[in-house]
Amino acid sequence: MTMITNNLPTKQLQALDAAHHMHPFTANAELAKKGARVITRAEGVYLTDSEGHRILDGMAGLWCMNIGYGRDSMADVAARQMRELPYYNTFFQTTHVPAIALSAKLAELAPGDLNHVFFAGSGSESNDTNLLMVRRYWQALGHPEKNIVIARKNAYHGSTYAGRSLGGMSGMHEQGGIIANIEHIGQPHWYMEGGDMTPEEFGLMRARELEDKILELGVDRVAAFIGEPVQGAGGVVIPPSTYWPEIQRIVDKYGILLIADEVITGFGRTGNWFGSQTFGIKPHIMTIAKGLSSGYVPIGGSIVCDEVAKVVGENGDFNHGYTYSAHPVAAAVALENLRIIQEEKLIERVQDDIGPYLAKRWAELADHPLVGEARTVGMMGTLALTPETGTRKPFASPEGTVGYRCRERCFANDLVMRHVGDRMIISPPLIFSHDDVDELVKRARKSLDECYAGLKADDLLKAA
Ligand SMILES: *Cc1c(COP(=O)(O)O)cnc(C)c1O
Repeated sequence: MTMITNNLPTKQLQALDAAHHMHPFTANAELAKKGARVITRAEGVYLTDSEGHRILDGMAGLWCMNIGYGRDSMADVAARQMRELPYYNTFFQTTHVPAIALSAKLAELAPGDLNHVFFAGSGSESNDTNLLMVRRYWQALGHPEKNIVIARKNAYHGSTYAGRSLGGMSGMHEQGGIIANIEHIGQPHWYMEGGDMTPEEFGLMRARELEDKILELGVDRVAAFIGEPVQGAGGVVIPPSTYWPEIQRIVDKYGILLIADEVITGFGRTGNWFGSQTFGIKPHIMTIAKGLSSGYVPIGGSIVCDEVAKVVGENGDFNHGYTYSAHPVAAAVALENLRIIQEEKLIERVQDDIGPYLAKRWAELADHPLVGEARTVGMMGTLALTPETGTRKPFASPEGTVGYRCRERCFANDLVMRHVGDRMIISPPLIFSHDDVDELVKRARKSLDECYAGLKADDLLKAA
């Protein structure tokens, strides 16, 4: 058996990593000097690094580890499937039992007439599929010019060319540009951009940018709108209550397709199977990945409504697919993940128990002098860091300076909590206990205290 050596000293592992491993979304030369943290094991909601630290995972890996680490049954299912049928494709008029079972299960769980699944290896790939699928839909109906997809600034839809183009991250667009016929409108980020409006007024205003954009481009050019029910990587941006109903009204009025990117919000994160249910959205396509397998294996997909599947299916070959679409091991492991979520009633737990408890404990952080806002939805949370409570003013320092410093304190205190600009975010595993929430809030408060003291000492507590 191949053994992956993990008994080397940390320094040696870090040197090898720096010499040969290019990290995603990382300034690699800078990281090489400092050395990456080497994660060696994980159990439940705790990670262990090569120095023996026990780190509380407030991010569920990368928003995906919904059922927690170290589940034997997930490993058993993978091993069994590898012995029985480790691989076969579904391209040339063949199928296999894991693909059949998982697509039927997803059709059962998804709302409305979202009854058809196209599988991919990740969320990014699934959004590539979606971009093609909505363009192909209109083309098959005789409207090839109806090919523009409207997306939002500061959205995250993945990192392939389609994903990064649909996404609205300027830092990503600056490196390599984006593909044609994708337009971006404003995001429903009231705290940062709402000015003197109420959140409800601002939500309506931002939704109506979709209508303005459709009218500007001409409805005969617009294929679809894509959005995350709650923006994740953008900073856990929970939209005002008026936003999604108005988006839905506009999408219905103009008859364009709606893609809900549920890669984070799917599989219980917001207290329902899908974020679309939490926010009353009726999408034609949902993007799924992450919580679909709780990150145990890579798998993603698009859950597609009857109408789109019919048009795309009745007009000859859909010339698209991945070698690993509906990979049998990944599909089997995803099914086991869904079984665990259902059997352990994790979604009901988020809705009735641990979600409300996290909301209560997280809200207490709002009394901290560095916190301008503390919000949650289900098991996602966000803290706006502020130089001046009660004002929503940004810091005078370049955006992200303070957030980064706070994240460094979290790191030192064995808590994984991410920063987006000057905002701290969490997305813990759905199996978090009350004690885990208490521990998270304790470590977060300690990190905030230390960050605050450091900012004071360095005279960085200044508003812009
Ligand atoms: C993570 C993410 C993706 C991309 O998924 P990958 O599996 O990393 O390709 C797409 N959309 C959203 C909303 C995400 O959070």
